[in-house]
Amino acid sequence: MSAIHYWNYPTEIFCGPGALENLAERCALLEMRKPLLVTDPGMLALEPLALLKAHLTQADIPFAVFSDIHGNPTLDDVALGVSAFQAGDHDSLIALGGGSAMDAAKGISLAAVDRHGLARFEWSQVISRYPSLADFPRLDLPKLIALPTTAGTGSELGREAVLTLSDQQIKQVISHPELLPATVILDPILTRGLPPALTAATGMDALTHHIEAFCSPLYHPMSSGVAVEGVRLIQQHLPAAYADGQDLLAREGMLVASAMAAVAFQKGLGGVHALAHPLGARFHKHHGLLNAILLPYVMVANREVISRDIARLARYLELPQADFDGFVQWVLQLRRQLAIPHTLREIGLDADVADWVGEQAVADISSSDTNAQPLDAHAYSQIYRNAVHGDLPAVFRQ
Ligand SMILES: [Zn+2]
Repeated sequence: MSAIHYWNYPTEIFCGPGALENLAERCALLEMRKPLLVTDPGMLALEPLALLKAHLTQADIPFAVFSDIHGNPTLDDVALGVSAFQAGDHDSLIALGGGSAMDAAKGISLAAVDRHGLARFEWSQVISRYPSLADFPRLDLPKLIALPTTAGTGSELGREAVLTLSDQQIKQVISHPELLPATVILDPILTRGLPPALTAATGMDALTHHIEAFCSPLYHPMSSGVAVEGVRLIQQHLPAAYADGQDLLAREGMLVASAMAAVAFQKGLGGVHALAHPLGARFHKHHGLLNAILLPYVMVANREVISRDIARLARYLELPQADFDGFVQWVLQLRRQLAIPHTLREIGLDADVADWVGEQAVADISSSDTNAQPLDAHAYSQIYRNAVHGDLPAVFRQ
């Protein structure tokens, strides 16, 4: 504990059924006169967008909708969004959707103002150039209000945007303190239409964020505490939200758990994300689904260094077997309950790319300092092969 640690906490949050009703007032307070509403194309016919449009129209706030984005938004998507932002003379942004809409809105915000290109805020540059929030250049970025319609990424509480470089199929993390939304609205009514499979995949993403943050070796006890309660909220609410999408209490619990995860992973992520990032960028698989499948395999690989912490977590969850094995059993049982496949092979991935995945995972931001222990490319390749074939120790076989 001899080092000086740098911590910060995020932004204002409205939470609860009907929290959307605070939007117009927040727009006024933030002097957002003509926001560009960024959402993904799948949202165009759905209830959340209709509710948002009705609310803004009733409040006499002029706006336009931009939805020309991919599942993993690219720099080309951002460029199109900047054109729409400037052509419509917009002064601010509202993001409605999952991580893609949030990431795209943040990218548009930065690219609309900063003429130097996004590369200087790419994560590996940021760490050395801007060690604390105050070191970043002030850009006066357009204000952003975020309304998540999934409970998984926690992007609404992050200062990062994950964008894919279109030609290289590599995900890059762009970071700037002004990318943090000025206001976050967690309204479970906006998530009740999320189909069960997406509820499961996004919820497992949030669970992975908490577990990886909890196991990160970085010293951040506040985030560790947030992660512990976040896992408990997911234990309590994810099965119910999956079984009955209209269960607003469960939906709200998952929105809170997901947002908390973004606070927890200020402590870092780990090997699950290090593997999921390159696989998602190259094979266009859902991020949360990849994490859900990979999680037990990475936990087993990290077992030696995380088993005591995971046993404490298992006791907090009051699991019948409150140790490492009991916790992994709980993860496996939760996955079965949510109809998540056990192997990567079941979603069309095979072992041929194991060496490539290993190299990519080592280079990923999530593996740099914050996986529970350092893993090399060979170790990552082996975890990937295990996840393709479903190889877990005998104690976990059904
Ligand atoms: Zn994630």
